[in-house]
Amino acid sequence: MSKRDSASLFILTGAGISAESGVETFRDKGGIWSRVRLEDVATPEGFARDPAAVHAFYNARRAGLAGVQPNPAHLALARLQRDHPGAVTIVTQNIDDLHERAGSRSVIHMHGELTKALCGACGDRSPFAGDLAISSTCAACATSGQVRPDVVWFGEMPYHMDVIEERLLAADLFLSIGTSGAVYPAAGFVAEARAAGIRTIELNLEPSEGTLLFDEARHGLASDLVPAFVEALLRGAR
Ligand code: NAD
Ligand code: ZN
Repeated sequence: MSKRDSASLFILTGAGISAESGVETFRDKGGIWSRVRLEDVATPEGFARDPAAVHAFYNARRAGLAGVQPNPAHLALARLQRDHPGAVTIVTQNIDDLHERAGSRSVIHMHGELTKALCGACGDRSPFAGDLAISSTCAACATSGQVRPDVVWFGEMPYHMDVIEERLLAADLFLSIGTSGAVYPAAGFVAEARAAGIRTIELNLEPSEGTLLFDEARHGLASDLVPAFVEALLRGAR
């Protein structure tokens, strides 16, 4: 096996990979933040102020998952995980479950998951379907009034940072897909990878905020760029 065959890949995905499935992005023109204030629905303070409104916002997103499907970009990454001989780590900022539904394994959700609920009283994180309400009761400790979507809000610490750092620094290639590069700490991964001498590639609709830090950047639709990239990588053509 050549070095390239066994290369360890670290893939960061953002809202752009799910855009063509019909899941709205945040920062694009017409994206969620053009209609909703992030302070209201994506901060602990917003939840304390108006939990019903925050539940309604995430309930709508959770319900929306039933109407969307993985697109060729998610499917290509699942194929890469299956067929690439080296390690393939997928870290996503997305709270949807489209990587899993495409067949990916062990996806690291650094910003949490819509399909889980978190109890503010005991810290339990459990799979959850349906609608959350102020009166929702924790399945583990039976406390009511403290159950929230298991989503990392602004001002909170993203999940799994230790394992993410470890995998990032062990990688031979850092690939960033469909992310604006505006939200830290994920936005800082490219600089870290670069400082560690890891090759860095961006696949995004438009140049991200950190685009100049990448060794290579390709701009276009994820459903075109990602399958083509995966095909070339598996053929050994890159
Ligand atoms: P973002 O909205 O800030 O940026 C999305 C990026 O994707 C943009 O740079 C845009 O140009 C690009 N893009 C849009 N359509 C694309 C396409 N078809 N192909 C390729 N690229 C495309 O999203 P982000 O960088 O992930 O922002 C981070 C925050 O947004 C995170 O906190 C994340 O949790 C949250 N978020 C998640 C979802 C989801 O779960 N699907 C949706 C919206 C936002
Ligand atoms: Zn609990």
